Amino acid sequence: MTPLRAEGVHVRFGEHAVLKGVDLAVGAGEWLSLLGQNGSGKTTLLRVLAGLLAPQDGGVRLDGRPMADLSRRHIARRIALLPQATPYVQGLTVRQFVRQGRYAARGPLGMLGESDDDQVRQALRDTEVAQWADTPVERLSGGQRQRVRLALALAQDAPILLLDEPTTYLDIRHQIDVLNLVRDLQRERGLTVVSVLHDLGQAARYSDRVVALKEGVVHADGAPSEVVDADLLHDVYGVAGQVLWITTNGVLKMVVVPD
Ligand code: ADP
Repeated sequence: MTPLRAEGVHVRFGEHAVLKGVDLAVGAGEWLSLLGQNGSGKTTLLRVLAGLLAPQDGGVRLDGRPMADLSRRHIARRIALLPQATPYVQGLTVRQFVRQGRYAARGPLGMLGESDDDQVRQALRDTEVAQWADTPVERLSGGQRQRVRLALALAQDAPILLLDEPTTYLDIRHQIDVLNLVRDLQRERGLTVVSVLHDLGQAARYSDRVVALKEGVVHADGAPSEVVDADLLHDVYGVAGQVLWITTNGVLKMVVVPD
């Protein structure tokens, strides 16, 4: 069963057609990355896949059922979204903030009780933010806050994880830590991941599949090594350059060299 499938998705904002018939099936346990220029509709598609934005035409099926028929709670048990920005209440500690992930999945009862449940503790540990559990979120740096936001999504303990630019604000070490963590979760727990990653090399390295959006439709769809090449650079980003593939430590990696 395909856990998440977009069928003929059209989204317009006023006169502006952003998605013009997007078809996308996300396989169970795969990591799929959305590529495309700024403004190509990646975030919009992620929001549609998360059930937060209803398309004007077409729709999304979650586990084969139309998303439009499902309750928010049902969706939250299946899908966690790390958006580009998460609102937070002034004074909320990291632990209180991350516990909101339990609310999404379990409702108000999930927030009761003094002790953290396992998912909250695990999420704080996995993202290496446990040392700030009692610190108000606003006292953290942008990078620390980004990991706390990921912890909130992980605490939801959903099998499908949607990540909108999860490495924003992170230095290179923490970028790699976050991407490695997501890869470990994907492999160990069979998570299905859909991400927007700006770094093409990282998208190629971590994703099983990439889908490039251009002018509101899917321009390319396939394994990174099959899809990411000089033509894609040119056609999707308007950039002339070379795409070089190298293997180190048995892992295929990619670098973009603009002309
Ligand atoms: P990307 O994630 O690829 O940068 P987005 O999905 O964020 O692209 O945006 C695609 C286009 O849709 C942009 O032109 C953006 O301005 C527009 N857009 C996105 N959300 C809204 C909205 N809520 N209202 C009006 N326009 C929007």
